[in-house]
Amino acid sequence: MTSVLETASAVTARAPAKVNLELGVGALRPDGFHTLSTVYQAVGVFEEVTVATADEWGVSVRGRDAELVPTDESNLALRAAMLLAERAAVEPVHITIHKDVPVAGGMAGGSADAAATLVACDALWDLGLGRSGLDPIAAELGSDVPFLLHGGTAVGSGRGELVTPVLARGSYHWVFVPTPASGLSTPEVYAAFDELSAGHDVPEPEPSPAMMAALRQGEPEALGAVLSNDLQAAAVRLQPQIGDVIDAAMSFGALGAIVSGSGPTVALLAAGQEGAIDLAVSLTASGAAADVIRAIGPVAGAHVIPAPRLT
Ligand code: ATP
Repeated sequence: MTSVLETASAVTARAPAKVNLELGVGALRPDGFHTLSTVYQAVGVFEEVTVATADEWGVSVRGRDAELVPTDESNLALRAAMLLAERAAVEPVHITIHKDVPVAGGMAGGSADAAATLVACDALWDLGLGRSGLDPIAAELGSDVPFLLHGGTAVGSGRGELVTPVLARGSYHWVFVPTPASGLSTPEVYAAFDELSAGHDVPEPEPSPAMMAALRQGEPEALGAVLSNDLQAAAVRLQPQIGDVIDAAMSFGALGAIVSGSGPTVALLAAGQEGAIDLAVSLTASGAAADVIRAIGPVAGAHVIPAPRLT
């Protein structure tokens, strides 16, 4: 039987952003990478990607921070499509990305675009790989891409690309504060981490029992108390306003406040939906934040949706 997708000339998929509930960073390795141990949660801020059969490869970007995203072959979505195409005789595609995730914010928007592109191309080209078949390609594209294929709450190890789901209860209300366009680059933050940890013994990172217990319990208060990020001191050192946002949010009743990944976005855990609205209003009304994004986590990973949004 021929499915709708087999005859389609365009397929749309969406993929969520992520927050790192815990980010443990080991010492700098001889290969230039750091061993990571992270607990990811997929959150409901979505990138939407449409892939359409075309005469040549291309990508266009709209939505939040679109002007900051490259449209050449360094675009992660285009790289994802071209890498997948190496495994099959397929037609080129034009990719249209609608962004809601801040660019270079530590929420992995580019990786979400790549994950959405992989599932959309898998459907468009009728490759039948599914998420597990796409995993090796996702891992080649970047450490966050495999997690964003699957979503939920998971432990990431290695460089972040080895993903194992964890038992997590509950639904959490997040408020994200994207900080100014003078974003932090991931290499800069790691360099500051290396400087701060020079001369100290940096242990091999591993998921903390306290985090696993909080996730099993499923209470936001418990999770808020154990959020941690080894890169936070480095990010705050490079951009002190991050520390100001964290202090303000805690004074307004956030259950926990953490730099998301390598920053500069700050992730705030609120006590339920009303708590998130109150926190968002307090932050913007007081001038502590110019802009906030509310989202629930965990959510599912990259998946095909019926049609692109109209705007
Ligand atoms: P990471 O923590 O992995 O560095 P991030 O969440 O901080 O990621 P992203 O928005 O994923 O930031 O993008 C980081 C950089 O990657 C951007 O500055 C941009 O130049 C480049 N990039 C390539 N493709 C994309 C894409 N499709 N969307 C956004 N950025 C992209």
